[in-house]
Amino acid sequence: MVNADVERILFTEEQIRERVRELAREIRAVFDPDGVYAVGVLTGAFVFLSDLIRQLDLPVEVGFVTATSYRDGTRPGALLTSAVGELRVAGRDVLLVEDILDTGRSLEAVQARLREAGARSLRTAVLLDKAERREVDVPVDFRGFEVPNEFLVGYGLDYAGRYRGLPYVGVLRRSVYEGV
Ligand code: 5GP
Ligand code: MG
Repeated sequence: MVNADVERILFTEEQIRERVRELAREIRAVFDPDGVYAVGVLTGAFVFLSDLIRQLDLPVEVGFVTATSYRDGTRPGALLTSAVGELRVAGRDVLLVEDILDTGRSLEAVQARLREAGARSLRTAVLLDKAERREVDVPVDFRGFEVPNEFLVGYGLDYAGRYRGLPYVGVLRRSVYEGV
């Protein structure tokens, strides 16, 4: 059943499952067999992260970071990042996991923070890539799907806190956020 607020489905549950399985294979091939420190960007990445680590077949530790826009008017567009709990990435091979790459600013900030924290290596996996919107060039090693410049929900992605639990990725109807 498609949620009534979703205009169309871009990727079904089945398509996502298959793509995540392929990404896991690619990731497993490049990481050291002694393990991965997977770092998810809250909140959206938690669904992708949880599916991905169950396909990895490598020892995995998990941590989370947040990336929040800093809006006091003095440095528009700057981002604050913070670790959630302890993040012991020093000397570790880190896999940064993000739901969707848009301008690239949040990933750029989180990557910088993980390097500062002493990660031995840093690779990045994003499920969705809105390539058209990119403003900064961030390195991405594993990419699920390229997506059009539309507002997407589901599989972790929200609008106003809703729709994260939809098993597919879909385009949100404009009427939902334009109040028509
Ligand atoms: P960036 O820093 O690359 O501009 O922003 C990436 C973040 O913007 C994502 O982690 C996500 O939180 C949010 N975002 C970008 N595009 C979408 C979208 O289509 N739907 C939702 N729900 N969030 C998005
Ligand atoms: Mg996000």
